[in-house]
Amino acid sequence: MKCIDATRLASESQDRELSLAERASLQMHLVICSGCRRFNAQLGVLRQALRRVDHLSEDGLASRDGDDGHEDAPPPRG
Ligand SMILES: [Zn+2]
Repeated sequence: MKCIDATRLASESQDRELSLAERASLQMHLVICSGCRRFNAQLGVLRQALRRVDHLSEDGLASRDGDDGHEDAPPPRG
């Protein structure tokens, strides 16, 4: 297995379940290749970071419609 195949499998493993043969090949490559081992580890970190960003974006991004941003005080009631 080449590095390009290993990194591709590592990426796909985030989205789908790898077959036994694919996992075995990937593991064998990770044992001998520190570069791909690091890449594989980074994938897990990246995945968690993306989840955080996705969660934050819900209220972190305000809608920008081009309004003047003027704030009206609510009318007194009663
Ligand atoms: Zn490699």
